[in-house]
Amino acid sequence: MNTSQSSIIEVSNIRVEVVRKPIKNLHLSVHPPDGRVRVSAPSRIDDEAVRLAVISKLRWIRRHQQTFAAQSRQSQREMVSGESHYFMGRRYHLNVLEHGGPNRISRKGNSELTLHVRPGADRVKREQVLNEWYRQHMKSLVPDLITEWQPVIGVQVADWGIKKMKTRWGSCNTRDHRVWLNLELAKRPLHCLEYVLVHEMVHLLERHHNDHFKSLMDQFLPQWRSYQDELNKVPLAHEEWAP
Ligand SMILES: [Zn+2]
Repeated sequence: MNTSQSSIIEVSNIRVEVVRKPIKNLHLSVHPPDGRVRVSAPSRIDDEAVRLAVISKLRWIRRHQQTFAAQSRQSQREMVSGESHYFMGRRYHLNVLEHGGPNRISRKGNSELTLHVRPGADRVKREQVLNEWYRQHMKSLVPDLITEWQPVIGVQVADWGIKKMKTRWGSCNTRDHRVWLNLELAKRPLHCLEYVLVHEMVHLLERHHNDHFKSLMDQFLPQWRSYQDELNKVPLAHEEWAP
């Protein structure tokens, strides 16, 4: 779900995504978790002017990137009892039980996840077990969603898969009609998974994020914008100034 009307410039070793929009001011934002930098610029401003504008904010950008780096080190999960983990938009309390049987997850109601692992299973192993559980859950949901949406959108998905992606919620190979979904969607409410799937399926009708694409989304999933906002939650650092 990257924006096709955007371009990338490099400023002092910082990769900056520049999105041209019919706006008056420049908007600069630094996004968690990895400190991605994005500039929305008025259409009439050229790349060189954007570059100069970004240079004038380099200290501000670096400061926020450092904050995010510190935050993501902090939010690194230890996979121990007492932590909070998300599943389908709800927060669960994690219990870790060491036992001799196979590794598995059990869920009690809408509040507790128990991770049953072999004695000595380390953080990486524990995380693998949880991720596999997330993956199985998504695998059980996606086929029905595809079956439901294919006749509505009027396209056929030939193949689909789930993988970890750093910067995108989903992607679509329009030639092979193959859709990829981000494993992270298992942590979000079901309507977020459905929105990303519909978005990727609509790419089989329209490759670009243009007005045609948006009008198709409006037609199939009128509330898609609020789901998009929910997924791309307000960036933590944001500045606006007149060029
Ligand atoms: Zn897209």
